[in-house]
Amino acid sequence: MIAETSAGLFCEAGGFHVDPWLPVKRAVITHAHSDHARPGSAAYLCAEPGRAVLQRRLPEACIETARYGERRTMNGVTLSFHPAGHILGSAQVRIEHRGEVWVVSGDYKRQADPTCAPFEPVPCHTFVSEATFGLPIYTWDTPRAVVDEVLAWWRGNRDEGRPSVLFCYVLGKAQRILAEIGERADAPIHVHGAMCALTEAYREAGVAMAPAERVTEAMRGKALARSLVLAPLSARGTSWMRRLPNASDAFASGLMRVRGVRRQRAFDRGFVLSDHADWGGLLDTIAATGASRVLVTHGWSDALARYLRESRGLDTGVIRTAYEGEAGELSTNGADGSIE
Ligand SMILES: [Zn+2]
Ligand SMILES: [Zn+2]
Repeated sequence: MIAETSAGLFCEAGGFHVDPWLPVKRAVITHAHSDHARPGSAAYLCAEPGRAVLQRRLPEACIETARYGERRTMNGVTLSFHPAGHILGSAQVRIEHRGEVWVVSGDYKRQADPTCAPFEPVPCHTFVSEATFGLPIYTWDTPRAVVDEVLAWWRGNRDEGRPSVLFCYVLGKAQRILAEIGERADAPIHVHGAMCALTEAYREAGVAMAPAERVTEAMRGKALARSLVLAPLSARGTSWMRRLPNASDAFASGLMRVRGVRRQRAFDRGFVLSDHADWGGLLDTIAATGASRVLVTHGWSDALARYLRESRGLDTGVIRTAYEGEAGELSTNGADGSIE
């Protein structure tokens, strides 16, 4: 029903690709991260709450939307979007043809997130799962506990007159941090210019977040000494940082679970906050779908596929992608800070 092609997953019967990485006729998009939403396709279809962020990411795109749960029929293939809990508007794609059901998860997480609808398990025969953090070492603490740590670190830096720079992805993570902090902020929060338009899109969608001001050219030294400054990793080590002398820096990512990574990259602090499912979340989700076949993609796909095959007796496969999302961020991408 769905085939791997050079452009990505293709449903021939329905005439559409899911998250294609090359321009195609009809692109069905799980969410607006740049490893899933590429420019150049003739037509795009995404879940309704994701329209504003997708349009900001792909200004030229012609975007159609469907509400979560709404069924569309294309040449006898029924397609619907279901919340993935990853970022605003993120969706799993359910595809049904002649009684056979596939669900392509896109990226997903199971933790509560005030910026998006919670993940909804969808029964299927074949489940295409991400595996960004598909190793047993990846387990997440509650977001509340992580935010407590962030606030304590920020307060400590303020006491020493140092700004706090928290690196995070521009789409999803930055807004989630602002939403989790909410009304608990007791000093100004500033955001890097690269995050402003997307944060605005979240506010327009009605997501409640802590107030945050754009870092301007004129702001230097004292102006930011008490601030929590959210910035993309790509700003690290650039002249932009000169406005923040003596700053303490931290990175918010699931990758920070591994102490060696934190040390190697020399962040003062690492906060383990991810928009992907942890190991337990992946296993619970896969079980909840009831799928007998699981195709794994992104990140630790081989490890997760092997586990599912050997310990759960599932039929498994691995789908290679052109991108590796959050797990690839530190070593390669993120030039524009856009990869999750
Ligand atoms: Zn993503
Ligand atoms: Zn991804």
